[in-house]
Amino acid sequence: MKKNSRLAVHKKQQLFQNQNIKKMITVTGATGQLGGGVIDNLVKKGLAPSQITAMARNEEKAQALKAKGVNVKLGNYNDHSSMVEAFKGADKLLFVSSSEMQNRAQQQVGVVKAAQEAGVNHILYTSIQRQSDSADSSIAFVANDHIATENAIKESGMQYTMLRNNLYFDILPWILGEKVFETGVFYPAQDGKVGFALRADMAEAAANVLLADQEGNKDYNISSPSSFTFADVARHLSTIAGKPVSYFSPSAEEYIQALTAGGAPKEVSGFLAGFAIGAASGEFIPGDSDLPQLLGREPISYKAFLDGLYGQK
Ligand code: NAP
Repeated sequence: MKKNSRLAVHKKQQLFQNQNIKKMITVTGATGQLGGGVIDNLVKKGLAPSQITAMARNEEKAQALKAKGVNVKLGNYNDHSSMVEAFKGADKLLFVSSSEMQNRAQQQVGVVKAAQEAGVNHILYTSIQRQSDSADSSIAFVANDHIATENAIKESGMQYTMLRNNLYFDILPWILGEKVFETGVFYPAQDGKVGFALRADMAEAAANVLLADQEGNKDYNISSPSSFTFADVARHLSTIAGKPVSYFSPSAEEYIQALTAGGAPKEVSGFLAGFAIGAASGEFIPGDSDLPQLLGREPISYKAFLDGLYGQK
């Protein structure tokens, strides 16, 4: 690296460290993929690991974070006092939504209460991008918990940021299955347009938001700026394979039956079918995405993601 660019990097690092000298960023879900990615980005962008606290429920899983110099506090979304203790001293708290689906709304409202009690100034929440807040929307099975959590945050009086994440590209391999080049794309999303995005891009965007000064409250739409359909996915897979890959959109019932017959657990096929119905009804259309502006570059596209996943066949 040339001396000048080394200096620039050093100055940038000092800037972040000075800006945040008395500030602590606390991240939940830190042993998970999104939370862990956010922490990696914070450090890469110059924040001292000592200015980051990771809340983890599993001490062993948190060893890697400790080894990086990140503070680790044990806390569980089901244990109020552990969270209050873990959140104390946090200026900003990134609350990564829970991966437990039972009683999630109640559990997550509890996280918001603990943050309030611990004196957190600013809470950032990884919510879901959606078109409708209706309690009986096609994605109510997953969106209602997020909406209840957003409402609790808004009522808490803390400064807030909603990071409304579209679905991850990273779930595409589950949707497409291992034999997609033989079977074609089989998914009941009809011709619904979606704005899925790469989880790693979402993690980087969240880190940028955490490092920036924010006036007031914000809602960010974290989607790919351009939409695609599952027919587009099949077309791109055809290009990769150099042979036609078809797209079939069965009914949701046929889809669930086929997945269950293939050995998939019922909850998994139900979830994937639910997302397809949401896609078909336009819930995951990107709308006005904030992702390029938050990243300062174009996010990874679905074509680039598929190229990376399958390479040239
Ligand atoms: P992930 O890798 O499964 O990480 C989830 C994190 O939450 C893990 O660190 C987990 O801890 C932690 N956690 C779960 N229950 C907890 C509890 N009771 N107390 C404390 N921590 C708890 O998921 P991800 O890929 O990072 O995604 C983050 C969140 O986005 C998920 O939790 C889910 O709500 C949502 N999500 C979104 C999409 C999408 O397509 N947009 C897809 C899947 C999930 P452990 O490491 O100890 O398990």
